[in-house]
Amino acid sequence: MTGERPLVGAFSVDVEEWFHAENVRTAAPPERWSELPSRVEGQVERLLDLLDAHETAATFFCLGWVAERRPALIRRIAERGHEVASHGHDHRMLGELGPDRFRDDLARSKAALQDASGVAVLGYRAPTWSIGPATDWAFDALVEAGYRYDSSVFPVRHDRYGDPSAPIVPHRVRRAGGSLVELPPLVRPLLGMNLPAAGGGYLRLLPFGWTRAAVARAVRSGRPVMLYVHPWEIDPDQPRVSLPLLRRWRHYAGLGRVEGRLGRLLAAHRLGRAIDLVEAFERREEEETGIPTATAAASSAASPGGPR
Ligand SMILES: [Zn+2]
Repeated sequence: MTGERPLVGAFSVDVEEWFHAENVRTAAPPERWSELPSRVEGQVERLLDLLDAHETAATFFCLGWVAERRPALIRRIAERGHEVASHGHDHRMLGELGPDRFRDDLARSKAALQDASGVAVLGYRAPTWSIGPATDWAFDALVEAGYRYDSSVFPVRHDRYGDPSAPIVPHRVRRAGGSLVELPPLVRPLLGMNLPAAGGGYLRLLPFGWTRAAVARAVRSGRPVMLYVHPWEIDPDQPRVSLPLLRRWRHYAGLGRVEGRLGRLLAAHRLGRAIDLVEAFERREEEETGIPTATAAASSAASPGGPR
């Protein structure tokens, strides 16, 4: 039975509208967002049903923008047993925001998510994986804002994001003001490189065997798996905007096959919430060092009524 299998990783959903994706930004700029058709509610409901069917609790990294407009959806995610975490406020990449506006973005999204869900937000994922060597000041802001973990550094080489020198397993990031746990998305080491295999576009655009083998290999070696998907990636009926060829392929190709592939992954492996991986990591850390993590985590015990 599902409940008896060991947890091998986490499943996550980056909750945003189809028009928040970096690939469609030129055709759907922020000034037009309020007039574009919203699809996120139906998409998330389908993902919630899929997760129920596989008795899986996941982490939903939600935009504050979505929470301000659809608080009932965020509450429903929490009520159905999932973790609500932050994907920032309005999907600006961190390099574009800079440290000060990032702090505002973090505070606004956390407030909207905690108001909507009624539970404390402990995790963060940057829009478009935009924490890397040039934006590592983000960790200071996250520690300051009381986040216990982050899942934003893709340990790969990519034209838009990533840090190929970053660890590919959960690890602690220490900064002057404190520390947090980093949960990298799944990669497949091959010929001295780390190649992305964490879901999203990689699940949609590449043959399914690529992801399936990457997950199997990580599970065999005891490396926790972190998978993700966007709600719009299971929606072939979303509105189409005109895009240059590469962006069009990146956003629209393979939308019809993602739900089936997710179902097969969820049937084959027991995945949980990001916070479950953090807790497992901290237990191991305590065993190895003999130092209780509570001292590190205490400063990040955010509560909905507490300071934001
Ligand atoms: Zn996103």
